Amino acid sequence: MIPLVDLKAQYKTIREEVLEKIEEVIESCAFIQGKYVQEFEDSFAKIQEAEYALGCSNGTSAISLVLESLGIKQGDEVITTTHTFIATAEAVCNVGAKPVFVDINPETYNIDISKIESTITDKTKAIIPVHIYGNPVNMEEIMKIAKKYNLIVIEDCAQAHLAKFNGKFVGTFGNAGTFSFFPGKNLGAYGDAGGIITDSLQLKEKAKKLLNHGRSKKYEHESIGYNQRMDGLQAAILNVKLKYIKQWTKQRQENARLYNTLLSDNTKIILPKTTLSAEHVYHLYVIQVNNRNQVMQQLNDKGIAASIHYPIPLHLQPAFKFLGYKKGDFPVSENITNRILSLPMFPELSKEQIEYISNAINSI
Ligand SMILES: *Cc1c(COP(=O)(O)O)cnc(C)c1O
Repeated sequence: MIPLVDLKAQYKTIREEVLEKIEEVIESCAFIQGKYVQEFEDSFAKIQEAEYALGCSNGTSAISLVLESLGIKQGDEVITTTHTFIATAEAVCNVGAKPVFVDINPETYNIDISKIESTITDKTKAIIPVHIYGNPVNMEEIMKIAKKYNLIVIEDCAQAHLAKFNGKFVGTFGNAGTFSFFPGKNLGAYGDAGGIITDSLQLKEKAKKLLNHGRSKKYEHESIGYNQRMDGLQAAILNVKLKYIKQWTKQRQENARLYNTLLSDNTKIILPKTTLSAEHVYHLYVIQVNNRNQVMQQLNDKGIAASIHYPIPLHLQPAFKFLGYKKGDFPVSENITNRILSLPMFPELSKEQIEYISNAINSI
């Protein structure tokens, strides 16, 4: 069986270092926040070339913490893509605001920037572009619109650690970038974890208080906040993994290149597209085929864990029924939902595995 992502294969390569760190954290009782979280924040800010980084509980809280810190609340509208994991829009609802969806570009699978302006109203306060699958959104175009309408920009980088647009790391274009360190993400903890990067000291300070019960100092609470702190164990594991993240990202890109080569003669497949300005980090390697369900079934039968990200666009999710969208509102997302197929993608994927998967697809 070739899994979609093989977390065990990666663990084998860092096992000793990780176990040593886990023991160190337990010995020092630095369970919540503390020195390992601090070390992670410093290293993560550095590697993403941001002024500040904050560790938090997960990628969803990272988004809602930034929204709330920047004053987004009930009555406000936040524009985002319909083709993303639910957390992006859920975080908007969690602060009482309303998500406003936009269709996607059929080639990049990212928000269709040409369709953003027509959804802007007096209530629009922010845009959340999502670098879906690790493929960077054209952030220069997004920032132009944001400047013109004075909008906040929060980049959902949950799938895009170390991705770049025009040589600049994603997450550093807008007011903040939010990250998930869910185990299966490009940089994954051994449990839930998330992070925020920003160049704004004010935003960092506000979010830092909010995620720790609105506390300004011990047992003094300036506002009502949350318990959304990062664990020391997760931070220590991430610190080990940060040493390898550049290499792992390169391996993902090499794996994508090999897939591209082996599948390029197959005219029945649409391969992932990226532009020259974008440095894709391939959280997922997603192709399009006509008879998707059949192809997926046959691959699964051959021991290849291909799957779909995501089968239902957000505007058609039962949870967002109250927003009043209907089938046909976003035809591009609805169409690709029936055609997309995610192939196994992780740094440790071998040449032989990619050949096996590609041969299987070509023979189908
Ligand atoms: C994973 C993910 C999130 C949420 O992250 P969690 O850590 O699971 O809360 C948000 N947005 C996108 C695009 C994601 O892929």
